[in-house]
Formats: sequence, structure tokens, C-alpha cells
Amino acid sequence: MEIKDRILVVEDDKRIGNFFRTVLEANHYDVIMAQTGAEAYSLITSQCPDVVLLDLGLPDMDGMKILKSVREWSAMPVIVVSARTHERDKVEALDLGADDYITKPFGTSELLARIRTAIRHTRTACFNQNGAASGLFVSGDLTIDYDKHRVYKEGKDVGLTQNEYKIVSLLGKYAGKVMTYDYIIKEIWGPNMKSDNRILRVNMANIRRKIEKNPAEPQYIFTEVGVGYRIVEPD
Ligand code: CA
Repeated sequence: MEIKDRILVVEDDKRIGNFFRTVLEANHYDVIMAQTGAEAYSLITSQCPDVVLLDLGLPDMDGMKILKSVREWSAMPVIVVSARTHERDKVEALDLGADDYITKPFGTSELLARIRTAIRHTRTACFNQNGAASGLFVSGDLTIDYDKHRVYKEGKDVGLTQNEYKIVSLLGKYAGKVMTYDYIIKEIWGPNMKSDNRILRVNMANIRRKIEKNPAEPQYIFTEVGVGYRIVEPD
């Protein structure tokens, strides 16, 4: 018997909700729906969905409140789907522990790709509880060797510095997911480092020079302007 992943859609706009249901059911997900924050709370605890798609503008509360409270007890993947396009909202959602952030309007294939990524990350998190990355990350001509702490392009060591390697391996560990500037800075330089993007930008420019064919049009590490960086999914 096929076990379907269950997705909770939290969305008060019926038209958008129905769109989600149609698309997700056509792609073999089990869909449950909530139109208010209160309904969402009750379904999250009673149905234990594999992924939550969370609208922020709900009639009875701000979706951020739901995200915050879920994160107090669960690593359940939450993808924020919102009409709020401001960078500040994206950063806030990601810093509160959202797995991803999609801005309305969005394409179906983008939505499905983000859902697959979110589900895969929870699985990985379950199997590798100490969180240490090991083995290889391979995407196109790019390889991260987590055991040797080296990055190769077309089989050649690109010669990253220690910090450059740390940045690339951190992104690789969460491939497909956007990591905020602030999160990366704190992970690499420690919690006392002030959130100054300049040093990170310099490191990223050097990384791109070493791994990208054309650093101005990156194929491997993308910039989410004002938010952070995202590395491609492995092959
Ligand atoms: Ca809404």
C-alpha cells in the first residue's frame, strides 16, 4: 500500500485553498485544510502532517504566531506561502524556523519542488541525528566532499579557504533551502559576530569566482536578495 505524505494547507482564501488541494491531490498528497489559525492548531496536533503550507494573513491570527508556537515543540516542516513580499517578512519567517518561504503568485512546479525539499530534510534529520554532514554532495560539475572538507569542480580541488568551505558545506547541508545572512554569519563566525553582511558578501564573491563558470550568473549558489543564499539541490 502506498503511504501518502499528508499536507496541511492553512489558507483562508477558498479559491487559493482549492487550487492547493487540486494540485497537491493530483500529485498524490493527502491534503487536509484549515481556514483559521485555531483550526490549524487543532489539525497540527491531531493529524501530525508531514508538511504545513502556512498563509500569514489569517482571519483570527497572524500565521507567524502559529509558526512560532509549532517550533517550540516540533521540527515539522513549515513552508510559509504569503502575499507579503517584503524581505523583512521573509527573514522573520525563516529566522522563526520556517523551512521555506514562497511568495504569491507562484508556479506549481516551484511549489512542488519546495515541498519535496522540505520533506527530504525532515527525513535526513531523522536518520542523521547528530547533524554532521558526511559523504558527498554532487550537483553537476560541483562536488562537496564532507569527509575531506574539500570542494571540487570538474574533479579539481577549487582551493576554498576554511571559512569559504564552512559556508559552502553549511548551504549544502540544507540544499534547496534559503539560509538567511544572519544565520550563516552566526554559524560561521559565532554568535557574537555582528550581523554585517559585508564579510559574508566578500567570502561569497570569492566562492563564486572559484566554483561558478560566470560568477555574475551563478548556477550553484543563488542570492535571495535581502534574505540570504540558497545552493542547488544535489543531483
Ligand atoms: Ca490570507
